[in-house]
Amino acid sequence: MDHLGVGEPINGDHIYNGAMDNASGVATMLDTAATLHESGTKLRRSILFLIVTGEEKGLLGSRYFVAHPTVPRSSIVGDLNVDMFLPVIPLKILTVLGLKDSDLGPLLRSVAEPMGIEIQDDPEPERNLFIRSDQYNFIKAGVPSIYFKVGARAGTPEAATEKRWLTEHYHAPSDDTKQPVDLAAAAKYDELVLHLAEAMADRDERPQWNQDSFFRRYVKRSSAAHGRM
Ligand SMILES: [Zn+2]
Repeated sequence: MDHLGVGEPINGDHIYNGAMDNASGVATMLDTAATLHESGTKLRRSILFLIVTGEEKGLLGSRYFVAHPTVPRSSIVGDLNVDMFLPVIPLKILTVLGLKDSDLGPLLRSVAEPMGIEIQDDPEPERNLFIRSDQYNFIKAGVPSIYFKVGARAGTPEAATEKRWLTEHYHAPSDDTKQPVDLAAAAKYDELVLHLAEAMADRDERPQWNQDSFFRRYVKRSSAAHGRM
């Protein structure tokens, strides 16, 4: 749905499939939507499942959606981004981008910890990953957002497995369906996404940026610009 398409061949293969980046996230969304539908769960807020393209070309699909939303923009209370979540190791630790920026951080923690998942803040803040996937367009529109993926502690064998994946398969034709996937980690992640979406949808309050978050500055600007868009 949203990867590089065809490109320079590597080992004779020029199709960049993007099974992890980001078909894994798309699969999670489809699973979550199907589970919610089949369970007949009634939530207080509705959940919009948005699958965009053009992320790799500069977050284009999410930029278009935020400029032309299919529901009133003021009714979008929060954004959970499930881009590539990399289930190549067991899900024991979750790396969270935007953990300290809004009350979605504590909400995610309250859902993850009972599942035996430990929360880890972004171990590489210097890469500015929080503004490098589709959540950034929602952030710029003032919408509290969070992004979370399977993580590992630096220096562990799991971190080495993750690093090897990034070196060998990231943005390469071998990011395909033949690579090993930790299916238990993927299933656990799906469950986490479902519980977090339900918690956000059923809570009284809308998610809020923290007072000291850098990204809170966009709230005012986006509501002032609202009338012009
Ligand atoms: Zn990518």
